[in-house]
Amino acid sequence: MSQHIYLDNCATTAVDERVLDAMLPFFTEHYGNPASTNHPFGLSAKEAVDLARGEIANTLHADPAGVLFTSGATEANNLALRGSAQLAPTNRRHVVTVATEHPSVLETCKDLAHQRFDVEILPVDGSGHIDLHRLQEVVTDKTFLVSAMIANHEIGTLHPIQEIGKIARAKGAFFHCDGSQAYGKVPIDFTGTGIDLMSISAHKIHGPKGVGALIQRRENARIAPLSQGGGQEFGFRPGTLNVPGIVGFGKAAALAHEDLPKEAAKLAESRDLLEKVISSNLGDVVFQGDRAPGKRLPHLTSMTLNRVHQEGLMKTVPHLIFSAGAACETHEQKPSPVLLALGLNPHQIFQTVRLAVSRMTTRDEIEIAAEDIVRAVKKIRHWGLDDPAES
Ligand SMILES: *Cc1c(COP(=O)(O)O)cnc(C)c1O
Repeated sequence: MSQHIYLDNCATTAVDERVLDAMLPFFTEHYGNPASTNHPFGLSAKEAVDLARGEIANTLHADPAGVLFTSGATEANNLALRGSAQLAPTNRRHVVTVATEHPSVLETCKDLAHQRFDVEILPVDGSGHIDLHRLQEVVTDKTFLVSAMIANHEIGTLHPIQEIGKIARAKGAFFHCDGSQAYGKVPIDFTGTGIDLMSISAHKIHGPKGVGALIQRRENARIAPLSQGGGQEFGFRPGTLNVPGIVGFGKAAALAHEDLPKEAAKLAESRDLLEKVISSNLGDVVFQGDRAPGKRLPHLTSMTLNRVHQEGLMKTVPHLIFSAGAACETHEQKPSPVLLALGLNPHQIFQTVRLAVSRMTTRDEIEIAAEDIVRAVKKIRHWGLDDPAES
């Protein structure tokens, strides 16, 4: 795989060697069940889980007892939405979310609508922002939950979380955030920001796949567990814990928050170089999302390349690994709902690609990738290979 350049770091990331080293002993040496606290094997597993819980809480200024480990952000989103809906008072049946949310939020909201919840999906403008005045109008004392992601997974736009939280709280509604893309890339002060529930995932920050967490502000957010059969995770998420995964998540979280502002600046520098080489050598490139500093993720760029079909580009530069859209949607040949919500037409959407760097991406890789994309786009535009059916 060494000749490949991996630029799909919003879909998943490589596990950091230090994370892997931390995990390995928990497969073959310290393999106790953390619920078996009557013997040293169980106790040492429990100790490791509690350490990871503390590390993750620490990165967010959150209470460790509010960190509930799950199988990932998809499950955390389901637990937040379904779990709080189950306990919603009968006079609060209204949920507010946003058109650009991850499918694990939008599809779950669709389910809630079938369970006689009143679901309101807010539109976004061309850069992916909701209208806060409109939010203020739709959130009422009938609203039990507002769910808005911190950063978008396809375009990187950051929502004004503080303001959204204020509006939710003023009406007594819970505030859930999908923080999967933002966590480890921008500082998040869980306690100071008024978020009640937040979903995160290990594999987006150089941790293992299949582990995530729902962070719960215990004094506010009331949720019911989705399954029964064990008292793990304070009763909110029964089932034997994925100890190696959790240990890896804790390590990945700590590493991602070592010098975060400096690391984020480095990511932005790589991403900006990629954008600069491409935009200064090609015409007809439109970058998507909010591009103002501080309003988007540092490591991601989404660009629409006029007269270049995303599949044609992928075939022309097969050594560059990137995405035509979100990973969870690429198996369907449907235009990205996020880009549709921005107002792009399907034609423009199929000309849009997402590139995301990580702390493992080298400057050489950025330069090669940018130059190869420029060359490929020129070639495709010259020969008219924009439609993959013709190539
Ligand atoms: C990746 C991602 C998820 C899903 O996380 P998993 O841990 O893979 O289930 C949810 N929301 C966003 C914004 C994501 O980027």
